[in-house]
Amino acid sequence: MKLIMKNTEISSQIPQLTDFQKKRLYREILDFIQFNTFVQSVHFTICPVCEVNERLIIKKGFLNGKKRYQCKECDYKFVSTRRKLS
Ligand SMILES: [Zn+2]
Repeated sequence: MKLIMKNTEISSQIPQLTDFQKKRLYREILDFIQFNTFVQSVHFTICPVCEVNERLIIKKGFLNGKKRYQCKECDYKFVSTRRKLS
């Protein structure tokens, strides 16, 4: 069965989940939050999409005065600053 729901519909269903399911969901969300916090706190380059290490990151010049990088794994381009990757 393939079930397609909009994000808002999914959100409205969350209260219907069992405690166990909610726990798993919250753990997953917590992982994302921790990952984002980690990415924001480090200065070395790591792909924010596929998380490959810096050996697969190539320099791609500058964007708005910030160093620009490209991931060789997924082709995602991003700039690295001390605060965030975008
Ligand atoms: Zn990547």
